[in-house]
Amino acid sequence: MLSRIVEKYTPAFLVGGIVFSAAVIGIYSRHFGQLAQIWPANALLLWMMITYRQLDRWAGWLGACIGYLLAGWVMKDRFVVNVWLASANLAGVCAGYLLFRVFRKRGNGLEGPKSVLSLLLVCSGAAGASASVGTLLAISLPGTTTWSRFILWFSSELNRHLVLLPVCFSGREWFSRQTLRHWYQIFNLRSVNIAPAASLAISVVLATLTGGPGAIAFPVPALLWCALSYTVLPLCLIVLIFNVSVMGIVEAGLLNFGQAYPHLAGIVSFRLGLSFLVLGPLTVTAIMTTQRALVERLNKSITWDSLTKVLSRQAYLEQSESFIEREKKKSASGISILMLDIDQFKRINDTYGHFVGDNTLEAVAKAISDILSEGQICGRLGGEEFALTISVGVLDEAICLAEKIRQSVEKILIPVNSDTFIHMTVSIGVAFQWLTEDLKFRDLLAQADAALYQAKSNGRNQVALSSSLLEERAVHVS
Ligand code: GH3
Ligand code: MG
Ligand code: MG
Repeated sequence: MLSRIVEKYTPAFLVGGIVFSAAVIGIYSRHFGQLAQIWPANALLLWMMITYRQLDRWAGWLGACIGYLLAGWVMKDRFVVNVWLASANLAGVCAGYLLFRVFRKRGNGLEGPKSVLSLLLVCSGAAGASASVGTLLAISLPGTTTWSRFILWFSSELNRHLVLLPVCFSGREWFSRQTLRHWYQIFNLRSVNIAPAASLAISVVLATLTGGPGAIAFPVPALLWCALSYTVLPLCLIVLIFNVSVMGIVEAGLLNFGQAYPHLAGIVSFRLGLSFLVLGPLTVTAIMTTQRALVERLNKSITWDSLTKVLSRQAYLEQSESFIEREKKKSASGISILMLDIDQFKRINDTYGHFVGDNTLEAVAKAISDILSEGQICGRLGGEEFALTISVGVLDEAICLAEKIRQSVEKILIPVNSDTFIHMTVSIGVAFQWLTEDLKFRDLLAQADAALYQAKSNGRNQVALSSSLLEERAVHVS
């Protein structure tokens, strides 16, 4: 019973609590008549409702209403003013919510070139609705005409939504991707390039010192540099800080545009200009995010074999070459290459079909990967052929590993139906050479290939050494 009540009313408490706190902060920041300087409540509520299905229930919306009204009551707003402001705020959030459902069906964050434009539409709708309700319901706003009152409300609401929503979206995504290792890296500030952020700060100072109608565009190059250099969340935070600071500078009268407009009209015009200015870096970061994700996917598909999850042929060859070059500088040990080929694999395909053949390949690759330790390189050379590059102290270590893999594959059982299982075996060719300057990876690979051919000729399901190793052993014995 109690747990059901808790479950039912948790959204109300959560949403109500957040809206209440954000609204109280906003009310503290009022100094233009009834309008707050900072008003994060609406953007936060909109973000919560579109992001968390658990909160987007009647209890959540009810919590939001109570949160707004309670904040106004605690801060001693007159009852009529309190209800009026809450209605205007809720109208804006509802409009933004509905527009979001229509325009942003896929994904939440800033992904793809058009995401910022649809975000602008959602934010404009939200700002337009709250400004309309707010202007219609009351006359106690600063400004001489209905239009000037509307545009004052609209410009501030649009600006808040445009800088806060991207931070919320990207912040949530960023938090969900964090691991302990990432947290450690965050505090490793040496790897952070602060030059773009510093150039933005300098451009704001220059704009303040120079003034004039062009000053608003001074930070554009620095903003674009930031968008090209940082990932989404840092960029959105920089845009937010930039927006709040520049707004503060202008409202304090420190930035002179040389215009003859009254103070309020100038601020409205500046606010709108600033809102549209941040669309540029947000669009660039949205495109960069999509591009980064695509490059990452492409890299992954080039590097890893999609079926067996070991390295692809090209990645195996490249990584082995550079591994051997690194090892040459380090130690006096040897390098061994193991080449593996599943025995009579074609028969498995022909008897049980390609799909079962694929399962077999996956199982063999898993058996190999489970045995390998870090630093040992494994790749699929093609078909049912795999190769390993490992650093070993003596040849016997490599033979031991090859034997372990052979036995492990021998134990694999692939179920075909309830009473049929497939067994399989592998043949392995081993090549080994001490690390010297003239060691060539491709030569060693060719030796392992020849040894594998020998293992097949000798009757399969066995480990064979390359001819040079056999000769060496023969010399030792005699
Ligand atoms: P051997 O013991 O001499 O190695 O005989 P084998 O049958 O294993 O070798 P053969 O080269 O004759 O056959 C290899 C088969 O592997 C032929 C090809 O259809 C199959 N094959 C290659 N790539 C894949 C794959 O990705 N999935 C499946 N299911 N089969 C594959
Ligand atoms: Mg084979
Ligand atoms: Mg083969």
